[in-house]
This record gives sequence, structure tokens and C-alpha cells, in this order.
Amino acid sequence: MNTDTLTMEEKKTGTKLNITPVEEWPVFKKRPLIIAGPCSAENEEQVMTTAAALCASGRVDIFRAGIWKPRTRPGQFEGIGSPGLRWLRRVREEYGLPVAVEVATEKHVYEALKQGIDAVWIGARTSVNPFALNEIAAALRDSDVMVFVKNPVNPDLELWIGALERISNAGITRLAAVHRGFSTWEKCSFRNQPRWQIAVELRQRIPGIGLLCDPSHMGGDRAFIGDLSQKAMDLNYDGLMIESHIEPSAALSDRKQQLTPVELMKVLGSLVLRSPTSDNPEFLETMEDLRSQIDVYDNLLLDILESRMLVAETIGRYKKEHSITILQSNRWKEVKDNAVDKGVRKGLTPEFIHTILEAIHQESIAHQMKVMKEE
Ligand code: PEP
Ligand code: MN
Repeated sequence: MNTDTLTMEEKKTGTKLNITPVEEWPVFKKRPLIIAGPCSAENEEQVMTTAAALCASGRVDIFRAGIWKPRTRPGQFEGIGSPGLRWLRRVREEYGLPVAVEVATEKHVYEALKQGIDAVWIGARTSVNPFALNEIAAALRDSDVMVFVKNPVNPDLELWIGALERISNAGITRLAAVHRGFSTWEKCSFRNQPRWQIAVELRQRIPGIGLLCDPSHMGGDRAFIGDLSQKAMDLNYDGLMIESHIEPSAALSDRKQQLTPVELMKVLGSLVLRSPTSDNPEFLETMEDLRSQIDVYDNLLLDILESRMLVAETIGRYKKEHSITILQSNRWKEVKDNAVDKGVRKGLTPEFIHTILEAIHQESIAHQMKVMKEE
């Protein structure tokens, strides 16, 4: 189905997939589900010592290690390949930890399934590609592995949903999405921009879909992992995928963003977990009261916007009578500068004022255009 042609209403209805909620997966012990392990499996000793430390913590549910590494540029460590699967089997046998690898082709899937790997993830450079997804989905058909689908590198929710649908259509029910952020041309402090609203909308569009955050690839720096993980918890994500290496400074890939197992436990130990709901009657009553105040303000905002657009239409008619153009850049710049000054004094951020005024201005122009076209 070409989702570009869906109406807003159809998009809101969402996609019904046959999904087992993350809390019902046998690996799930408590919120958040934790997937941890090195970016890449490098050698048997590195894999086993990292797994030993993560297993000893008792807090890791699935051990990850990439053996086929999609590197952006050639000439870098591209993973150890199939021999790494045997090391992962050892992790499962000796530490009882379910193991996960990244798959990008049907060959990867066949090899992973042959070695009894418990979970696979589809990376951001693969989830952009419907052909690759069809191939991977066909190879996974009716297997009982857990499948995690990272967001595509570009901020395209439809592609992410499409990737999840393709895997679901292959009969996989233990399926979850991993939010690892989106590439941008502009430099930003994170390696990949979070754009949290895209993941939040994904959860609305596919009710019941599990959602994990990967703060390692999102932040690109170990310094950001704590804050990003906390944000994911505050948004009620089901789990976290975090890279952990026994000696990050010697890692062959993603050195800056990996945590030692001890550092990882510190991050997990300091997470504050808030519950999404409460049955405390006093809390519920106070919330109801506060929410009704919010509703009053939202309605006021709508009334004010309606009045503002009526004035814009009057201006449109007046300009039409006098043959004046709609857009007058100087006037608009003045309005914006004044609003930013005033808004900042009221504790609002300049970015917010900018966004909201741009949106109001667009709508205003549309109203003026409408009346200018009237006979
Ligand atoms: C990874 O998890 O090691 C990886 C390559 O991630 P991403 O696809 O998010 O870049
Ligand atoms: Mn990595």
C-alpha cells in the first residue's frame, strides 16, 4: 500500500499487527528490557569477558554483538563475520544469556538461524531498503526469533512502519522497534538527531509495538547515554539497547560511545522509573483538575487563533482593494523579533516562539490568499 496517499484519518487509525507485547516475552524480567554488548564482536576473549561481566550484573536480558558491520566508508573494520556466531553460542551456553546479531541480508539470517541465535536486529542502513526487508523477512518466515527493527537513517516514519509490517507479515510476533535517531547534514551535538516525536507517533500508529531506545548510536558519545536513557524512560519506552565493551578505548568500532559493563550498571542504576499511570484517588483527582485547566487554555488558544485569522482575512480584503501584496517581509520580521523578546521574558524558548509564529503566519497567509481569490 502506498501510505503517501493515506489521509490523516487513515493514518490515525493505525496499523494492526499481530504483536506479542514485550512484557510477555520469556526474556523480559522487568522494565526496561536491556540489550547490551559490544558494537562488534572482535575476538573470542573480548566477547567472553564482556559477556561474563554483563551476565554477573544480573541486569542484562539479551547480549548483543555485531559480526557483520555496515560501515559508512570502506576500509574500516567490517566485522569478524560468521566465525563470531560460535562465540555467541558460547555466551548462551556458558552464561545462559540470549544472544542477538545484526542481519542485513538473507545469508546473514540463514547463518544466524542455523547457529540458533535468539534475536536479530535490522540496522538503520538496512531498514531504509524495502528490497532488503523483503529478503530478510522471507528468510525469517515463521521462525521464533525476536526481531528488532531500528529506525531508518532518514526521518521517514512510513519507511520504519513498512519495515515492521514486512517482518510482521512473515509471521514474526516478538517484534519491536529501536529508536536510534536520524542522520542530519547539519552538525548537532548528538551523532543522530533523536526527533522523539517520530518514535512517539510510531507507537500511536502501531498499537502494542514494543519500543526501545539506542542511546549509544543516538548520542555517539558515552557522556550522553544517561540523559538519553532517562528521556526514553520518561517517554515510557519498553527497553534500551546500549553498547558495552570490556575496554572501550581499544574497541575496533564506535569507541567513543561504548561503556564498560561497570559504567553501564551505573547508568542503569541511576535511572528514575516513573509509572505511566496511578490508581491513587488523590493523584487522579488532582490530575483531572490540572488537565481541565489545560483544556481551558487550549480552547482559549483556539478562540484566539480564530479571531486572529478573521483579522487576517479582513487585512486580505483590504489589501486586495488597494492592490497590495500579501507578504511584507519587514513587517513580519518586526512581529517575530518583538514576539521572541517578549516570549523569552515569559520563559519560552526562542525556537518554540519561532516555530509557532511561522505556523501561524503560514495559516494567516493561507486565509489572506483565500479571500484574495474571492470574487
Ligand atoms: C549497531 O547497532 O551496531 C549499528 C550498526 O547500529 P545502527 O544501525 O543504529 O547504526
Ligand atoms: Mn555500533
